[in-house]
Amino acid sequence: MRSIDVHAHLTPQCFWQATEKGGDWHTLKREKDERGQELAVIAGKRQVLPPRAKWTPEERLADMDSLGVDVHVVSPYVGFYNYQLDTKVATATARATNDEISSMTRTWPKRFAGLGTLPMQDVKGAISELERCMTQLGLKGAEINDHVNGRTLDEPEFRPFWKAADQLGALIFFHQGGETLVSPRTTRYHLPNTVGNLVDRAVTFATLVSGGVMDECPNLKIVLGHGGGYTCYGVGRMDRGWQVRSEARAHIGRPPSTYLRRFYYDCIVYTEAALRFLIDTVGADRVVFGTDWPYDMALDWPVSWILAMENLTQEEKEAILWRNLERLLDL
Ligand SMILES: [Zn+2]
Repeated sequence: MRSIDVHAHLTPQCFWQATEKGGDWHTLKREKDERGQELAVIAGKRQVLPPRAKWTPEERLADMDSLGVDVHVVSPYVGFYNYQLDTKVATATARATNDEISSMTRTWPKRFAGLGTLPMQDVKGAISELERCMTQLGLKGAEINDHVNGRTLDEPEFRPFWKAADQLGALIFFHQGGETLVSPRTTRYHLPNTVGNLVDRAVTFATLVSGGVMDECPNLKIVLGHGGGYTCYGVGRMDRGWQVRSEARAHIGRPPSTYLRRFYYDCIVYTEAALRFLIDTVGADRVVFGTDWPYDMALDWPVSWILAMENLTQEEKEAILWRNLERLLDL
């Protein structure tokens, strides 16, 4: 049986090489902390990079073999979205990253497919880089944050981006980067990640649906990372709001839950009960395999985890592990 992982990140080798002797990569730098951990330094802010983030494609392939994963749909390290930086820097890092992912997919076409990164603070620039990804680099779409410097993707300035993604057939993978909505409340206990990621994803679902983006762009292909966060569990409340509040109905003529099947959701929910609930809510044809390689929050033995589940049918396991992504991305 195949397995195709839609949630597997790349910290590009061009960053590691450019910073190997203390140099910078388009203003981004690297240093080690007192424990010897590698840190990326972006506009003065430091982010820890795990050991596997430095691995070459060959080392990565060996790890995929040991995990039983056939294909990585490689997406960039979200610490390098760079939306807050000068557009020129974000464009340069995006182009270099996307070129590298493209080259991985061309060297190992059976093992890698790719999603690019875009300078979303410049919508025109983001569209032209998405076009380059789709028409010249052979990528399948792009990974973007749940917001661009605090603005959600239903804001009018992003409508041309959605039209372009829709027309290009690009898959858009939503994944938070940096702070989440939880960060201003508390930065303790890893909660900006463990709770915040899920909050951010639910806001993305709600804003795209309620803002009318999904109606205006009927062919959009969107994957919500981390199982869509709290979307499925909380959609009943969104529906109630739609019934009783006129502002919730401003752009849509039917309740938010009727849009659930317009999205895809990765399986990174950590418990079988949550995955079962996700499948029962959106359908097994809308759930896709993802692992969050190479981070500490990744599923440890992801293929075995799915295969060992008692409450999923063989058909559902196959749909999640590969059939849905094979169809969606033509792999
Ligand atoms: Zn991730």
